[in-house]
Amino acid sequence: MKFQITRKLEGKLGRVGVIETPHGVIQTPAFVTVGTKATVKALTPEQVANLGAQVVLANTYHLYLEPGHEIVNQAGGFAKFMNWKGPTMTDSGGFQVFSLGAAFGKNITKITAETDPNKMLTEITETSKNGRGEMPANFKPAKVLEDRVIFKSHIDGSTHEFTPERSIEIQHCLGADMIFAFDECTSPNESIFYQRESLDRTHRWAKKSLEYHLQKSSNMNYFKETGERQALFGIVQGGRHEDLRKDSAKILADMKVLVNENGAEKEVGFDGFGIGGSFQKADMESAVKWVNEILPEEKPRHLLGIGEPEDLFMAVENGCDLFDCVAPTRIARTGQVYTNHGKVNLRNAEFKNDFKPIEEKCVCYTCQNYTRAYLSHLFRSDEMLGATLASTHNLFFIINLVKQMRETMLNDTFEKFRAEFLNNYLK
Ligand SMILES: [Zn+2]
Repeated sequence: MKFQITRKLEGKLGRVGVIETPHGVIQTPAFVTVGTKATVKALTPEQVANLGAQVVLANTYHLYLEPGHEIVNQAGGFAKFMNWKGPTMTDSGGFQVFSLGAAFGKNITKITAETDPNKMLTEITETSKNGRGEMPANFKPAKVLEDRVIFKSHIDGSTHEFTPERSIEIQHCLGADMIFAFDECTSPNESIFYQRESLDRTHRWAKKSLEYHLQKSSNMNYFKETGERQALFGIVQGGRHEDLRKDSAKILADMKVLVNENGAEKEVGFDGFGIGGSFQKADMESAVKWVNEILPEEKPRHLLGIGEPEDLFMAVENGCDLFDCVAPTRIARTGQVYTNHGKVNLRNAEFKNDFKPIEEKCVCYTCQNYTRAYLSHLFRSDEMLGATLASTHNLFFIINLVKQMRETMLNDTFEKFRAEFLNNYLK
């Protein structure tokens, strides 16, 4: 993977760039479409590509459980398995292992958490409104040990273990262009004591992930096919604490492992960085700034699990290049769609005989061909096509929004674009 910055936002951390992978190019900043189980729910990969999606992220935890990473490896990686022709990413599994489930059925905005740091059983009652993955009601918490996490499958209750090495091994089999080090995602409501302890552990796990990756990746199909290692991103954690966030960025930026390549020894670090954790809205901007002021400029940065329009503007302005979020397709399946004037629910009575498209100016397939009244009918009668058409619009809306951010950074109208968009959207 190569990353090149082509333009910077004046006086800010924001930048325009290009990521080159063996499977294609990503013009950044870019929204990363989530395909949890190697499928973008309700859409074919061709439809996803036609929306302008450049990269798909699948979830390690989910593919490990179903159908199993060995099967995905036999298929030649998850991109081939699902017939996606472009660049791909997998997360480390850390997010789901720690936080899947406990928040299910509760009223969640970003975060709610209550945790006794002295308990071995870390119950993170958080998944955030933009959590990645579906949650069952009866999921049992994960047990965090020094070198591993023990967790129960949400599918059949069977017990499993993830270590940093295991997460990377699974991600080698899934074969994405960009993969992540195993980390612990904490709730910002954890005590500073627990945050520190967890962060130190995440750094030890990052080192183990990097070492294992550098030892093993050249034996894998990806390397044989492309002649390159998969790109490994380290994940910055540290909750809402400035000192922890800055420490984490510095430690991961400096983390290197000595490798012997073609008879010569050299130090290799991470290829990019993820910014993890679940944020409270008010904390997110400062956390992103603290971290991006420290991380090496020349490597891509992925803000994990963030995708609401207002958050995307903040992240782009503050130097993030990639963002993934399940929200556009998840809310679409419930009948909620993005418009330039905020989100609306197509199930509402007012749309039953509204024969306008979702968004007058939108050029997506759905808006070009269907009315709000028709979509309202599909959702009210539980027709599957509703999910497909609403997902089409929502993904296009978000992908195109980030694309417009990129274009306006290139022609120096980003501030104006943001002000106009948010003025309408948040009104
Ligand atoms: Zn549309």
